Amino acid sequence: MSTHSEMVESEYKAHKVLLPLVFKQCDACGSDFAGAAESKQNKRAVLAWRKQVDGLLTGEEITALRKQYKLTQGQAAKLFGGGPVAFSKYENDDVAQSEAMDTLLRLVRRSPQAFWALVAEKSMESEFMGEPIKVPAQSNVVHLTAVRGSGEKSDSRYNPRPFRSFESGAEAWKQ
Ligand SMILES: [Zn+2]
Repeated sequence: MSTHSEMVESEYKAHKVLLPLVFKQCDACGSDFAGAAESKQNKRAVLAWRKQVDGLLTGEEITALRKQYKLTQGQAAKLFGGGPVAFSKYENDDVAQSEAMDTLLRLVRRSPQAFWALVAEKSMESEFMGEPIKVPAQSNVVHLTAVRGSGEKSDSRYNPRPFRSFESGAEAWKQ
């Protein structure tokens, strides 16, 4: 048994193309067939071409976009939608993304601002901590590590008095 490929004409929406489709051939009797692996590979080749005809991003282009933003397939699904295995299917050309999904992907590919706006919209900032967190310069919020009264002072330098003026109404730091 050996694997062969043959250029086969495929037609879609009045477009024609020759695609290399694979099949297995019996070396003894010459009969040929496409097994599960060959069928899958052939379907992917056909769908990849149809996506191009429809003006959709190819699987390869989607992989490149995902890597552009250092996203895992799981993160991409959380961010863009489509379900947990959506990006595996899009990228392998097992499924064609919708036109709406394609538009969103193109927008984010074009614009890092759109990417960060989407991250904020989905409350996924914590998954992308590589980016510096911007704190407004005029912020006067003081973050204190709570020191619980255990009978002994763990840090004699700790003196909350200077912060009282900031926290007159709040009790949290005193606990
Ligand atoms: Zn045979």
